[in-house]
Amino acid sequence: MTGRVASGHLGDGEGGGGMAITREGRICSFCGTAGGPGTEVPLIGGLGAQICQGCVDDFHALVHDEARAAEARGSMPWDRMSDAEVLAVLPQIMASADQNVAFAHEWVDLLRARRVSWAEIGRVLGVSRQAAWERFAKKSGDKSATA
Ligand SMILES: [Zn+2]
Repeated sequence: MTGRVASGHLGDGEGGGGMAITREGRICSFCGTAGGPGTEVPLIGGLGAQICQGCVDDFHALVHDEARAAEARGSMPWDRMSDAEVLAVLPQIMASADQNVAFAHEWVDLLRARRVSWAEIGRVLGVSRQAAWERFAKKSGDKSATA
């Protein structure tokens, strides 16, 4: 078990009419395995993070085995990893970060498709309407600054 990075979980929000959010091209945010449709690795998503069946099984076993859980609390996994192993995880962390940023853009696209204003999007992010638009509209299909 290497390279697992903790993250939150929430439903993937499927079922929104016309939204661009898909399950294709995703990776497990905990182990970096590619999964989703067209693969044999189902992924469960939430807040941009994805988790594969293997990680669900591993973490389930870990939290329900007090001896393993105590061992896991004893030291950080990277304390037992070589420099090469730590280096090998870095691109996986960046791919997971990119996946989360892409999901945020897709989520903003969903909000814009629902005609939620840039002012509202900015308000929940604690930034101005203009700052929200500059951050998200450039990569999204919605270049409209009118609402
Ligand atoms: Zn995984």
